[in-house]
Amino acid sequence: MVQRGALWKLDCDVLVVGAGGAAGRAALAASDAGCRVAVVTKRRAGKAGATAVGGRITAVGAFNCARPERGDHPDLYYQDMAAAAAGTCSPPLARIIADEAPAAFDRLRAMGVPFVTEGDGLLQVTGCFSTRPRSYLIPGHGLPIVTAQTEELRRRGVPLLDDCSLVELLVDSERVIGAVVWHPERGFGVARCGAVILGTGGAGNVFPLTFSPPDVTGDGYGAALRAGAVLANMEFVQFGYSLLHPAKNEFESWVWALQPRVLNGEGREFLPARIGGLPVADVFAERSTHYPFSASRPGSRMLDVLIQREISRGSPTPHGGVWLDFSAVGALPDGLSRLWRITADWFQSRGVDLEHQPIEVGLVAHAFNGGLAIDENAESSVGGLFAAGECATGPHGADRLGGNMLLASQVFGERAGRYAAGARDVASWPRVEDGAEAHLGRLLAGRAATDQRRLRRQLQLRMAAAGALGREREGMSEALTWVREAQEVMSGLRWEDRTGPLLLDMRNLLLSAESLLMAALLREESRGSHFRTDLPDRDDRRWAKPVFSRLAGGTVQPLSATWPAVRSR
Ligand SMILES: Cc1cc2nc3c(=O)[nH]c(=O)nc-3n(C[C@H](O)[C@H](O)[C@H](O)COP(=O)(O)OP(=O)(O)OC[C@H]3O[C@@H](n4cnc5c(N)ncnc54)[C@H](O)[C@@H]3O)c2cc1C
Repeated sequence: MVQRGALWKLDCDVLVVGAGGAAGRAALAASDAGCRVAVVTKRRAGKAGATAVGGRITAVGAFNCARPERGDHPDLYYQDMAAAAAGTCSPPLARIIADEAPAAFDRLRAMGVPFVTEGDGLLQVTGCFSTRPRSYLIPGHGLPIVTAQTEELRRRGVPLLDDCSLVELLVDSERVIGAVVWHPERGFGVARCGAVILGTGGAGNVFPLTFSPPDVTGDGYGAALRAGAVLANMEFVQFGYSLLHPAKNEFESWVWALQPRVLNGEGREFLPARIGGLPVADVFAERSTHYPFSASRPGSRMLDVLIQREISRGSPTPHGGVWLDFSAVGALPDGLSRLWRITADWFQSRGVDLEHQPIEVGLVAHAFNGGLAIDENAESSVGGLFAAGECATGPHGADRLGGNMLLASQVFGERAGRYAAGARDVASWPRVEDGAEAHLGRLLAGRAATDQRRLRRQLQLRMAAAGALGREREGMSEALTWVREAQEVMSGLRWEDRTGPLLLDMRNLLLSAESLLMAALLREESRGSHFRTDLPDRDDRRWAKPVFSRLAGGTVQPLSATWPAVRSR
């Protein structure tokens, strides 16, 4: 039992969890409003989260903005978002993204975030699911955003606690009053605050192949569910091809048009001559037109499913993918010269010779489109609990426009900070400490935890086989049963400093997986990034709407609700 005197304390108006693009923006906005803000981040600020992966595995980050003076318009942008989401996003939230993109863009430029230029202007490209060029490119993905925001927070003296993890949200009378946190040297602490903003990113590590860093383990989803919050759209996860070896990098889809040979780990071609009734060359041509997998692409979706099946049930390559062999491509008139210069340079600097060496690629979990259902203030269904970035949903749904996540993190990060700043009533310390003690009492009971790594690997392999692409009822039901049994085992385990962090990760990964599988089973159709091989058609009559869910009786259950997120206050 942890005695209340043994807990270190953090007192603030707004507690921001995370230090990625969304959390950093939220912390700055709350600080602008004159709040006492504190930031806790599981890894070092400036290096943590998916926003900061730039430089290492992706050359550029796309950031959308529709400006009338450049022949585009927020109305057109909104229409593209609504078409991609196919009835599953919150129209007012998508509209906010379209309208507030220019302000978010200008703020980043004012902070010194660079954008790729072309001639004497800024380069704009057409991102996936967009009908016109509106993606500006940031060299180094979101790293310049995170760096600029973190520097500004430090300059203002906002307390930034690196390596400090949210363990549990403390809720009283359906309102957030604080949080239990953990730091490897300081141990457990308790935060008292009027509002919490979650900027914890997605749950890419539910899958074996992801470019999400190790600190992105669905902690926001897990903590929010346990606090009673409503989630939505959890079945919608974007997957896209990425280079796994000899270097790790996002992979530009148009290279499929070069008609590479696709080989499994044994060096054998395994694709049939025709896929979905089409010659494989036509299927490759269609695959070259989009990055994320989508059920809305009838030609290429089965290509991705066949490749995913070979990876998870057949003979994968040493790094868990398939080989792509471009050695015949050099003979084509323009060969590989159509690679963006920045990508070509990237490959060259890492010694990757696409023309002469086969490469390993796989379908990598790119981003979750689902998350906490938020309203236009970025507030969830639990009072005082806000969320922004990949851990929130509303602006996105079945498919998401490429370049919308970095933008959504900025727009709703700003709104979360601004509106959370209004919640300055804090609970009394004894009330907060009572909540922390009750929680820690449960966490420190039970039997010793074993190493969670093996369990995590088992979860990832099951999710790759059943919860990624080409889902079907039987596989998902089996995976859901396994996940719920694993949760039973976990609930009897005790926190120990050596194994505790992995135990927390695992608890949240399992809840994220459960939310995904529950929603994917319920959605008896195919839509956007959710493709069921047993139900391949889209059913607008029944399913042009999101699946909302929450924790009830110990399991994640569907909830009948509509946007904006239902208030449980
Ligand atoms: C390779 C790659 C390329 C991408 N390209 C694009 C693109 O071009 N355009 C685009 O719009 N999107 C892109 N995305 C998606 C986009 O980068 C992410 O969705 C977005 O950056 C997420 O930002 P975030 O602020 O929500 O979370 P993150 O940046 O992931 O930050 C999460 C933060 O939460 C912290 N955290 C997690 N759990 C806890 C806890 N328990 N306690 C305390 N802190 C915690 C982490 O340490 C981290 O600080 C890409 C993603 C990847 C992986």
